[in-house]
Amino acid sequence: YVKDHGRGHFRFYEKEMDAIYLNEMVMESYLRRAIELNELKVYYQPQIDLRTGQISSFEALLRWNNKKFGFISPGQFIPIAEKSGIIHNIGEWVLDNVCRQLKEWQDKRYRKARIAVNISPKELKMEDFSKKVKQKIDAYGISPSLLEVEITENALANMEDTIQTLNNLKNIGVSISIDDFGTGYSSLSYLKRYPIDTIKIDRSFIQDIESDEKNKAIATTIINLAHNLGMDVIAEGVEKDLQASILLNANCQKAQGYLYSRAVSIDEINEKYFSKRT
Ligand code: C2E
Ligand code: MG
Ligand code: MG
Ligand code: MG
Repeated sequence: YVKDHGRGHFRFYEKEMDAIYLNEMVMESYLRRAIELNELKVYYQPQIDLRTGQISSFEALLRWNNKKFGFISPGQFIPIAEKSGIIHNIGEWVLDNVCRQLKEWQDKRYRKARIAVNISPKELKMEDFSKKVKQKIDAYGISPSLLEVEITENALANMEDTIQTLNNLKNIGVSISIDDFGTGYSSLSYLKRYPIDTIKIDRSFIQDIESDEKNKAIATTIINLAHNLGMDVIAEGVEKDLQASILLNANCQKAQGYLYSRAVSIDEINEKYFSKRT
């Protein structure tokens, strides 16, 4: 019922979609057991400094390979995890993996081995979220500056709930990025209220930046906005050389996308980027 569409992407046929894919209850029950069954993996996608071509960080992206369903994209299972509350277990599991990885790299004295981790709005709303992050950082003995959290604009819609949490994270020494910038439902005013380090320009503004003047204008304006506010900026979904050079000309510091690498397993990351001491 799943077919390989190449490049490791799988999709369900429509007939089965009603029976299986759309059955959130079934998927939820499998998701509930995914951690103990060892079905989850953290993959990593490099973020590139456009000026030097060097890696500045890695984004942790969750992968789920289930016996019954095959590969399921986070776009499908994260919403189910959020609705059911499983996201709290999964989020903690991801953070634990990421911190353990940072510890390993830190011990090997690999520089530039920072990791950005996606945080669901639901996790951010928990009162003790920043405390849990701090406990994890201390448990592994890693430098908090190696860790970055990515949150979407929608997570900030509920101002009072989250401002304290973000301030706490900032005080701990963790960096904060706004993911999918420009696609959420919130006003720009949060940019001055929250301790934001980096803006990530959503892929929808980058994908045809070489031909779409409006997207180019939007991306350029976001880059300037970030810099005028003293923030860093990353372009998401860079797939072509031409897009990278346009972004570099517009003063964008960093980029992430298939042009450089997809998200790959930790073994591939270590093999590719850390097999020789630098
Ligand atoms: P995101 O955080 O905005 O991550 C970027 C998504 O774009 C990833 O999809 C990545 O594989 C994909 N991508 C990167 N470069 C390119 C490119 O050049 N072209 C195209 N077409 N796509 C590109 P992915 O891994 O399927 O993740 C989708 C979303 O699921 C993420 O969006 C994030 O919101 C969520 N997610 C993934 N892992 C986690 C996690 O551990 N926790 C939480 N809460 N959410 C996660
Ligand atoms: Mg992200
Ligand atoms: Mg994004
Ligand atoms: Mg996204």
